[in-house]
Amino acid sequence: MSSPQKNPPRAASPAGRPERFRSQRIEHFTESVIREMTRLAVKHGAVNLAQGFPDFAAPEVLLDAAKKALSDGHNQYTITWGAKPFRDAIAAKYERTYGLSVDPEREVTVCCGSTEGMIASMLAVANPGDEIVIFEPYYENYGPDSLLCGARRRYVTLHAPDWSFDPAELRAAFNARTKAIIVNTPNNPTGKVFSLAELQCIAELCQEFDTLAITDEIYEHILYDGAVHVPVMTLPGMRDRTILVNSMSKTYSVTGWRVGWVVAAPDLTDSIRKVHDFLTVGAAAPLQHAGILALSFPDSYYQSLSAEYRTKRDHLLEVLTDAGLRPYTPAGAYYVMTRFDGMGQKSDTEFSRHLIENIGVAAVPGSSFFEHREKGAALIRFCFCKKAETLDRARALLNRLKC
Ligand code: GLN
Repeated sequence: MSSPQKNPPRAASPAGRPERFRSQRIEHFTESVIREMTRLAVKHGAVNLAQGFPDFAAPEVLLDAAKKALSDGHNQYTITWGAKPFRDAIAAKYERTYGLSVDPEREVTVCCGSTEGMIASMLAVANPGDEIVIFEPYYENYGPDSLLCGARRRYVTLHAPDWSFDPAELRAAFNARTKAIIVNTPNNPTGKVFSLAELQCIAELCQEFDTLAITDEIYEHILYDGAVHVPVMTLPGMRDRTILVNSMSKTYSVTGWRVGWVVAAPDLTDSIRKVHDFLTVGAAAPLQHAGILALSFPDSYYQSLSAEYRTKRDHLLEVLTDAGLRPYTPAGAYYVMTRFDGMGQKSDTEFSRHLIENIGVAAVPGSSFFEHREKGAALIRFCFCKKAETLDRARALLNRLKC
């Protein structure tokens, strides 16, 4: 007797499924180009300088703390907005670092990475018809985040080489429908660290137009050449109109842990917690417990982090320049926007494909960071959160561009 076939082959995409099974919310979504490049890197065995995650280990003591948290039994849900001692550690760190006092009971929401922090915040405050101001080039998630809220995006250009903006253009982007501006500093993909004067200009517009600032500060501790990070929340008039988003991912080299947080005034936090609760319930309990140790690291940890990344930045800048590319030097974060003029490739996507398939190095096409895609057509983004030997492998491969 033949047994029934357990896993009959399935059509890749059932033909003719009616449109009504695809929500309008995702109609304008495109695949994440950053993650697509990682997939292509794996497929072609290329060195992955596309997706920004370290290829070196997180601090040993942190890994030990995570193992201990597991064996100590922190394996069930924490309270939905985060384990109390972790929220206390977050508040203590803001007090210590910026003199910013935060109420861990009413102003902190622990999320699954800053990715959830951003979307939970935006869903909590924005309605269809609202407008969100975004600097361009921008981290690709902000587009889909706004689409999910039904908010309209207004783009303000950051101009190379220092990625400055025109204050008049910024002002023109604000109006009575503006609900929030997203400020990502230090910035992905440009490495720009917004100056105090620029942040003050943003803060003044937020107050004039009664608008929120949603700040993505995930690279706060990765700074070069004396650049200083100023949380917008610490500026006059901004304490209660800023939603500050951050995470453990980049600062402690644990991008896969998915532990982030949002700091905001109690009324905003109430709304954000409502969204967060129903989106994810909570971030991984044992990893929040390990995070308590991370957030108590001394200042020297952060100084070393910046110093180590500075060495990596200079390493990659040299690799790219030697290969005949034209990198812009970042002041923070761990990416290098690079011009590839003179390489004989028509577009950034063509050049990226050439790099992955024929050279063996993956990077991200610049246009994926722009709404006006043509503005990124001569750019490509490399990341340098990699071991020196990985950057040297990239050097050997990229040198073939000169052949
Ligand atoms: N922030 C990282 C980058 O820009 C990782 C992005 C992601 O895949 N979530 O490359």
